[in-house]
Amino acid sequence: MFIDNFRLRFYILFMESIQQLRSQFQQELLSISTLTQHEEISIKYLGRSGSINTLLKTIKDVPLEQKKEFGATVNGLKKEIEHALEEKKQQVLSQTEDAQYTDVTLPGTPYARGSVHLVTIAIEEISRVFSKLGFNRMSYPEIEWEQYSFENLNMPPEHPARDDFETFFVDHQPSDVFGKMILSPHTSSGQTREMQRVQKPPIRMINLAKCYRPNWDASHVPMFHQFEGLCVDTGITISHLKGTIDYFAKEFFGANRKTRIRPFHFQFTEPSFEVDVSCGVCDGTGIIDGTKCKICKSGWLELGGAGMVHPNVLKAGGIDSDVYSGWAFGFGIERTFMMKEGLNLDDIRVLYSGDVRFLEQF
Ligand SMILES: [Zn+2]
Repeated sequence: MFIDNFRLRFYILFMESIQQLRSQFQQELLSISTLTQHEEISIKYLGRSGSINTLLKTIKDVPLEQKKEFGATVNGLKKEIEHALEEKKQQVLSQTEDAQYTDVTLPGTPYARGSVHLVTIAIEEISRVFSKLGFNRMSYPEIEWEQYSFENLNMPPEHPARDDFETFFVDHQPSDVFGKMILSPHTSSGQTREMQRVQKPPIRMINLAKCYRPNWDASHVPMFHQFEGLCVDTGITISHLKGTIDYFAKEFFGANRKTRIRPFHFQFTEPSFEVDVSCGVCDGTGIIDGTKCKICKSGWLELGGAGMVHPNVLKAGGIDSDVYSGWAFGFGIERTFMMKEGLNLDDIRVLYSGDVRFLEQF
């Protein structure tokens, strides 16, 4: 009875100390990162006075019939430790070799660098040009009422001109005063908003904003950008419009670029014009090396629409059209930028595809 109890107690204590030693070793093994540390740990466990030998020395106190099992278990742990230490040594050595053969004069690994999107570049550039002329940079709502996008611009409900601006409607309770809520299809909605804000001219506004129309093909995206110029004061004439557009073209595209205006019709300007800028690729001649210029075909590129603000629009903005007159224009930012770069994109959607190979060129 006494002997059995003694053996049992010894066995439990022995197994506990083996387990404790193993987990202690495994933890210390993880902390090894140099050969010096490796040697220290090796001596601690496998050295002459190391943990394994110390344990083996206690074999003299082990009951005779358990000596064999005791020896086998301790030797098993010893082999386990030897194996783990050898593996660790190889690992440390290979890391040290890597470090030894690092050539610090080699160029570093390049990493992808972000850049500003070309539409953002264009917005900054356009704002810079107009700020020199004293224009206020504004950004009017993208989610807008019909009133500001159509009625105030001389396009009452059922007017066929509204069909030209295919529109996204917002699922929102219509207003008795302002009509339905829409995604603004152009930046012109900012015209009467600016008039109402300033109340008393002079007004010099440049409104840069996103616009939305439900089109998706090679030359249309459902979200695009426009910039709207508006100038209202006493004695404002077409000459001021022409002079401003000319200044912009020379500043933005280059000193040798020319502009022209052609009669057109818009509901919110009278008279109305389309504005062209001379092609920078063929220098306005329409011909390169005896063949037609592929970018413009005629020497001119269409920039957008412009005109003298219609008296009804001034009235809607609370401005007395007998005292004041003004001009406005609306150009597409993407389009304008592409003209600057002489880009002839087959598909405008590439601008928003997020393809870095295209975008990183700018
Ligand atoms: Zn050309």
